[in-house]
Amino acid sequence: MRTAEIRKRWLTFFEENGHTVVPSASVISSDPSILFNIAGMVQFIPYLTGREPAPFPRATSVQKCVRTQDIEEVGKTTRHGTFFQMNGNFSFGDYFKAEAIRFAWQLLTHPESAGGLGFDPDRLWATVHRDDAETVDLWLEETSVPRERIQFRGSEDNFWHTGQPGPGGYCSEIYYDRGPDYGSEGGPEADEDRYIEIWNLVFMEFELSAVRSKTDFDIRGDLPAKNIDTGMGLERVAFLKQGVENMYEIDEVFPVISAASRLSGREYGALEADDVRMRVVADHVRSALVIIGDGVRPANEGRGYILRRLLRRAVRAMRLLGVTEPVLPHLLPLSMEVMKDSYPELETDFERISRVAYAEETAFLRTLESGTQLLAGAVDRVGTGGDISGDIAFALHDTHGFPIDLTLEMAAEHGVSVDEAGFRTLMQEQRERARADAKSKKGGGADLSAYSQLLDEGASEFVGYDALTSDARIR
Ligand code: ATP
Ligand code: MG
Ligand code: MG
Ligand code: MG
Repeated sequence: MRTAEIRKRWLTFFEENGHTVVPSASVISSDPSILFNIAGMVQFIPYLTGREPAPFPRATSVQKCVRTQDIEEVGKTTRHGTFFQMNGNFSFGDYFKAEAIRFAWQLLTHPESAGGLGFDPDRLWATVHRDDAETVDLWLEETSVPRERIQFRGSEDNFWHTGQPGPGGYCSEIYYDRGPDYGSEGGPEADEDRYIEIWNLVFMEFELSAVRSKTDFDIRGDLPAKNIDTGMGLERVAFLKQGVENMYEIDEVFPVISAASRLSGREYGALEADDVRMRVVADHVRSALVIIGDGVRPANEGRGYILRRLLRRAVRAMRLLGVTEPVLPHLLPLSMEVMKDSYPELETDFERISRVAYAEETAFLRTLESGTQLLAGAVDRVGTGGDISGDIAFALHDTHGFPIDLTLEMAAEHGVSVDEAGFRTLMQEQRERARADAKSKKGGGADLSAYSQLLDEGASEFVGYDALTSDARIR
């Protein structure tokens, strides 16, 4: 079943069940505390918190998401993309737990011939918060899942809140068992590689009076209006339905892996290290395509920094596969071809998107060689276990265009660390110099210092990262 078909079945099912189909919001988040949309619920936050009345009692969407906090997992696990699509169904004070569980079970287990996704019900597991006995009963009443395939978990995994006083509630997640070839038994609690998390049901039912951490909070009472927020990973369902080994091998991603293999002359499936690189390339090219499509351009901070890092990481992975000429002109069009059914704007806007991506690759290739040599020299000098100075990291960033995370990664590959604090100090000094410079040139003109401070602080790469890793705030 093609990914686009799963997406279509999802929307049809929830539309038939009274949900308003809402288009994906841009990957660029409208919530200033996060750079990118990391879940389907983000565009509905005003309705979920009661800040604004919801224009419909039920909604469904397929949201474009970017989670850079998962970047280190990409290609190594079977199931983490920097870009992915989250299918969601939402209830704003309308239906609650019983219907959310019933809908999920129906869509997953109805036969393909009846418009469902045709999962074998005997392979599905559910997790429930250990204080949420009500939900266990509902699973037993509404579905055919037996008691022994329901597992209890704590607040770390199965409680949602925003990190602040306000709404919160238990979650219940659905997992698919890939079978004994993929690990030992014992359910999701024992092995999340064998048991793949596909769908998270969030029950927003409490008003929290205090939140001290992810797992430490006080419940004041029930919310006046209870809400449902769910998220199902489209690529995860696609990989399970398509009978492939991981989300990078689905119809919307694999063509780029094939091309990376062709260009490099290395066979996919022969050597794990090469496979990981090819998956990273395919993932990052797709993410960059969508992110540029939504209007981001490469930059040294904020969203543009993340885009730059994705593109440069993809280019470097191809270089590690032995390809030294430009690769994006071969790879980006392939990614667009398989994504355009769901996102036609990627084709109509491809001229602009590709220009941005190719220029970034050209710029990086100009300095990649010299930067790699500089780093190799430094690694040799300090030796394994050593520490590369902030000056070198700064020169790599400033002269050779190496995002700091790339330097950290490359150093770590050689067992060497980097004086990051020293690097940050040098970056800060450079910013201050630039600001002083701008001021002296501006003379009596308008005072833009507040604006430049905003750029420095609000959108700096490090602030951006802190915001991104606080994923817990949202889901
Ligand atoms: P995991 O534990 O596997 O990292 P999660 O618990 O962080 O997933 P949720 O925040 O519950 O994920 O998001 C809802 C659903 O979105 C998940 O059940 C999963 O199917 C999907 N999903 C989450 N992160 C990713 C990702 N990086 N790539 C692909 N799908 C994802
Ligand atoms: Mg996660
Ligand atoms: Mg999880
Ligand atoms: Mg989850």
